[in-house]
Amino acid sequence: MSNEKIAEMFYDIADMLEIEDVQWEPRAYRKAAMTISTLPVDIKQIYEQGKLMNLEGIGASISKSIEEYLKTGSMKKYTDLKKKYPIDFHIFRKIQGMGPKRAYVLYKKLGVRDIGDLKDALEKNKVRSLEGFGEKSQEQLKHNLQAFMKVKEERKMLGYVIDYFETLADKLRKSGFFDRVEIAGSARRMKETVGDLDILATSKRPEASMDFFTKMKEVSGIIVKGDTKTSVKLDVGINCDLRVVPDGSFGAAMQYFTGNKDHNVKLRKIAISKGLKLNEYGVFRGSKSIAGATEKEVYAVLDMEEMEPELRENMGEIEAAQKNSLPKVVGYDMILGDLHSHTKNSDGLNTLEEMVEAAAKLGFEYLAITDHSKGLRIANGLDEKRFMGLHKAIDKINEKSSVRVLKGVELEILKDGSLDLPAKTLRSMDIVIGALHQNTKMPRKELTNRVVKAIESGLITTVAHPTGRKIGEREAFDLDYQKIFETCSKNEVALEIDGFPDRSDLPFNMVKEAKAYGLIFTLGSDAHRKDQLRFIRMATAIARRGWLEKKDVINAMHYKDVLKLRR
Ligand SMILES: [Zn+2]
Ligand SMILES: [Zn+2]
Repeated sequence: MSNEKIAEMFYDIADMLEIEDVQWEPRAYRKAAMTISTLPVDIKQIYEQGKLMNLEGIGASISKSIEEYLKTGSMKKYTDLKKKYPIDFHIFRKIQGMGPKRAYVLYKKLGVRDIGDLKDALEKNKVRSLEGFGEKSQEQLKHNLQAFMKVKEERKMLGYVIDYFETLADKLRKSGFFDRVEIAGSARRMKETVGDLDILATSKRPEASMDFFTKMKEVSGIIVKGDTKTSVKLDVGINCDLRVVPDGSFGAAMQYFTGNKDHNVKLRKIAISKGLKLNEYGVFRGSKSIAGATEKEVYAVLDMEEMEPELRENMGEIEAAQKNSLPKVVGYDMILGDLHSHTKNSDGLNTLEEMVEAAAKLGFEYLAITDHSKGLRIANGLDEKRFMGLHKAIDKINEKSSVRVLKGVELEILKDGSLDLPAKTLRSMDIVIGALHQNTKMPRKELTNRVVKAIESGLITTVAHPTGRKIGEREAFDLDYQKIFETCSKNEVALEIDGFPDRSDLPFNMVKEAKAYGLIFTLGSDAHRKDQLRFIRMATAIARRGWLEKKDVINAMHYKDVLKLRR
């Protein structure tokens, strides 16, 4: 797919135009890039249907550039700019504090073109003497670079590639070469980021089936090809292993390749303690296989219940399975609505009507519109008056729509812990998600008190993306989370699980921790465009990975009960 390539070029163009102080255009390119990077289909297909300009944020000149690239494999505007700015913006964009203008200063003064140059310049303390940098920002950059290196570049956020993975697996299924095809590995566990894709299959014609696989258009390179295992590079920039296993071992292989590693190590030890041997082919007593065709029988001969893949993190699930006390985790199909989304009124891309229509298509019973409040200026936050207008529009939609639209706000928790909108406005809302977005680099105690004050106000219903982390980009807030959980519990305020892939916040391990405080949770896609409503699935996955059951999740309630809870 060219989607990712084109999106990256547009992001680069935006960065370079920003250096040139061009107004507006950078924004337009970024918008287009965002649209393209999250398209569920190949942009080439849209181009061939002549529908490029139907896409959000893609006008005549940008669609010409796309056409140019699809036809010629290059884009003049990009190439010309790139000659002037031979900088690896793609990587620098992922490092906090390396905006295009700073990257340009580092290039001009120190010749920094890529991450190696940057590392070098920082290690030699060359950055601090540059105008506009100084000792403090040099140290900050060092820190941010380290944080970036920790999340390896090859890892992908599952939310962005899961549909692609499933389409790929489906194509294999429908090819006629395979009897069974299943996704295993961390994607099956619904881990937030994945390093590669593992697919397991059975086939009566392994050789022909591997031929089919390596010739798929998604495959951009072959690493190794064999009858039982073939590894390829996919065009989304991730490797994929396809294994063809014997029918009788399929369950054992699914178990083995789903992992995670710690979970498997513990299982193997348990097998040994029972005088058995467990591997990817089955469970053996001596040389005799006693289980392997299904995962259920593998777990059963180890005296435990089979568990959901999302739980397999060695977080107590094995012990629970041995005692028949596994949680009945909330099902994907139990989620009736989405409690966090944005429209064009703040920083979203779609209108209220378009968001509601998309929610209807997904079969949601309800959708909370939670646009930003006025204090978040960069997101065009709404004041009291604009919220009143929005509420009128919502009332009108609710008269005829199959989707119940809930009135909400993603509310700035201000520097001193006070709230960004008057109590009267907040009381008119169905859901109030208190959020930290600005001035978050406070001492731990101060920042904690700020959130505590907001929770104790009696005016917010949920704490948005509680840790504020962005994967590979920004670390969690320095908060006393135990205190936050306690205060939420005491004040009957929910915690949010934000399913936007970059956020995935609360993280699943903290969800499990927070649940122990008796907390309830709201799930939100944090969609800023209609197609991002699909991220509610990722929020649900985190809930499952955090052991939440139906009763722990507000989104599993019908809207009337959600409103009752509010009162
Ligand atoms: Zn937010
Ligand atoms: Zn949001």
